Amino acid sequence: MQECRRLEEVLERIEKAKERAGRRDEVLLLGATKTVPPSKILKFYECGLKLFGENRVQEFLKKYEELKDLKIEWHFIGRLQSNKVKYLVGKVSLIHSLDRESLLKELQKRAKEPWNTLIEVNLAKEETKGGIFEEEVKIFFEKVLNYDKVKVLGLMTIPPYSPNPQDSRKYFKRLRELKEALEEEFKVRLPHLSMGMSSDFEVAVEEGATIVRIGTLLFGERKT
Ligand SMILES: *Cc1c(COP(=O)(O)O)cnc(C)c1O
Repeated sequence: MQECRRLEEVLERIEKAKERAGRRDEVLLLGATKTVPPSKILKFYECGLKLFGENRVQEFLKKYEELKDLKIEWHFIGRLQSNKVKYLVGKVSLIHSLDRESLLKELQKRAKEPWNTLIEVNLAKEETKGGIFEEEVKIFFEKVLNYDKVKVLGLMTIPPYSPNPQDSRKYFKRLRELKEALEEEFKVRLPHLSMGMSSDFEVAVEEGATIVRIGTLLFGERKT
């Protein structure tokens, strides 16, 4: 199957990047499925991919329902409006885009089990993107500690788009340094760095990514 071959290729490229970096720990491949129909998600699931991420709550709910009987692990990777949090309860195992206190409050309020989250960091301070600025990460992390229903497992970033993947390297490095600074300051272990997409995931793995989020390379160009 064509899908299985594509999946294998991406997994091999992740392995090679790990080898270059001398890494033996695990890198999770997340299929970023915005605009991808459930029938196609199913094909990749049958090839062995079990982790998928959606950007929009409405789109997520549809696919979640349709694929309910499969053992898919869903993450939420897009900008999250506070008034949509309630729809995600019990359905996603990690939110990659925690970026403000109002969202924190809503997560606390709606929680059944504690939420697993990543703090999204907007390293290049792009207006079009969510995420908090790096200068505010420590203060924000400290705030989260007051919310017992929200656990931070690490950091996520989306670097500015560039055709040259090497341009992303400094952002990936910076995200790793920020994570290490938090671990040092708060005496915690943060297991995850969510970084790297179709164009730059190998660089991200070299710089320590534990989750790469890949759409186009697996599922083909998006029709928007
Ligand atoms: C769309 C998307 C991706 C995947 O992007 P590709 O370039 O298609 O691999 C990853 N992360 C987020 C947050 C996205 O919205």
